[in-house]
Amino acid sequence: MDKTRYYSLRMHASADGRHISGAERIVNPEHVDSAAGELISRAFAKGLQPNQIVVTIDDLSGLAHRSLAALDVTTISSPDPPSARADAARILHAAGVTREAVEMALSLLSAGAAASGGNMRGAMIVDSRTGERLEPDQERGIRASRFDWTYEAGDRMRSLLAAHGLVHKRTYEALALASKIAAAPGYVAELCWSDDPDYTAGYVASRLTGYVRFSFLKRPGDPLGGRAVFIEGKNFDLARFLSFMEKEPVLIERTGQCLPETDIDLFLQRIGPHVRSGS
Ligand code: AMP
Repeated sequence: MDKTRYYSLRMHASADGRHISGAERIVNPEHVDSAAGELISRAFAKGLQPNQIVVTIDDLSGLAHRSLAALDVTTISSPDPPSARADAARILHAAGVTREAVEMALSLLSAGAAASGGNMRGAMIVDSRTGERLEPDQERGIRASRFDWTYEAGDRMRSLLAAHGLVHKRTYEALALASKIAAAPGYVAELCWSDDPDYTAGYVASRLTGYVRFSFLKRPGDPLGGRAVFIEGKNFDLARFLSFMEKEPVLIERTGQCLPETDIDLFLQRIGPHVRSGS
């Protein structure tokens, strides 16, 4: 990618004021047209009927971007949503989130974390010790924006994921998003599952554990999903965090490893020496 000329594209589709989908790209000028077309197709994917689609295109030329490596990817073999959520909780705890904060996030995402009860457009910010929510708007949440793979790293990552049977575009996109979020100031960990009723996979992420996938973090047909970003509450600087998440351009220029599926106990043993004890 030409580092001096690039554009950020953001798509947001809604129906009757309700968020239905969103996506992000960063591309060179010659790809703006095709990327915008792909984002608009996405807004109509799977029979969605948006009545407003907003594509915002910003010239990022002259803005320094941060170059990041993708998190390593592992899949845990939990067979169903209850065991996957219990295993996700263990991993989050190992990454430094208290049981109280994990429980709080799991129950909010299960019930619909928006103030009005449905899905949020963005993520919750959750204090990793107390479970307190810190995002300024509990209906919208905060959105990570301005991130993408470089063409080379993106191609390489798709091949690495495909070698483990992970061919769904969502994994590739969520990995870029999780890798940007993992570089946020104050970040501890993240928990996510989709609001797409047909997409049951989800993940937890942290710098210690990498991106840890679960194939069944919710039941098929469940329309509720969302994201919780756990942060270190002591000295947390919300303005800095928001500025990084929403404004700072990030290109994922290096791939991480893609590791074979494993079970939770082996995984925790592997990261074990660093795992904190107590709650
Ligand atoms: P998705 O994986 O796209 O189905 O998104 C699942 C949930 O994550 C959504 O319901 C939003 O709450 C949240 N979300 C989606 N995109 C972003 C983003 N760019 N930044 C923060 N949160 C997001």
